[in-house]
Amino acid sequence: MDVTMSNKMEASLQLLQQAAAKHGDALVYPCSFGAEGSVMIDLICRNGLNISVMTLDTGRLPQATYEVIEAVEKRYGIRVQVVVPDSDEVESMVQTHGVNLFRQSVALRKRCCEVRKVHPLMRSLQGKQAWVTGRRREQSRGRADLKPVETDPVYKLIKYNPLLDWSWDDLWAYIREYDVPYNKLHDAHYLSIGCECCTRAITVGEDERAGRWWWENDDVAAECGLHVMSLKEVSGEIEDGEGI
Ligand code: SF4
Repeated sequence: MDVTMSNKMEASLQLLQQAAAKHGDALVYPCSFGAEGSVMIDLICRNGLNISVMTLDTGRLPQATYEVIEAVEKRYGIRVQVVVPDSDEVESMVQTHGVNLFRQSVALRKRCCEVRKVHPLMRSLQGKQAWVTGRRREQSRGRADLKPVETDPVYKLIKYNPLLDWSWDDLWAYIREYDVPYNKLHDAHYLSIGCECCTRAITVGEDERAGRWWWENDDVAAECGLHVMSLKEVSGEIEDGEGI
């Protein structure tokens, strides 16, 4: 592993240590179990950091994601907190719009993400002070200006972004160096991994985010609402026309 890579690892670890020391049990890592998640969990567990790992089981995840969750639990001796959507809310949405509503319009795709991801995430963040994300600057234009530490302007919940400067190759150098469990969909040219129905493999030269909601073909729209908007906005408490 070269010096640049070692420096990135050290910087990421320092940020995680800083977050863990500051927030204790009020810090959580919501993980989607792509390559970033594999690296982050290994950084957390290898260094004995007190950061709990949770994931959102939307009900539409690929089997490969369940497999890597199980592999991670066995490797590190941890239990991942699996958070599911409210069943009444899912039933009502599907009853009204159908099981594949996300194909009908951007608004309905965002509604699906709101019910299956945003609301459960908000529920799981209650009582927390901060969360860790696996976002990286090179993932999209919208992520180029992110800062390592950000604060939600409404709820003051702090986001830590330890992998901002990691490249895709950095992630894989780390995964191979430490033989880290990873999502096998990556072997089939999936870069960004989410729900099975909304994720695809990409071809050479395509942007990483082209593997998600590709039918919308809009870089700005290609966020699920977990990170684009403040928590108050995603919770639907603001009726400012920006609702997801
Ligand atoms: S990624 Fe697709 S299936 Fe998953 S919550 Fe969003 S719209 Fe629904």
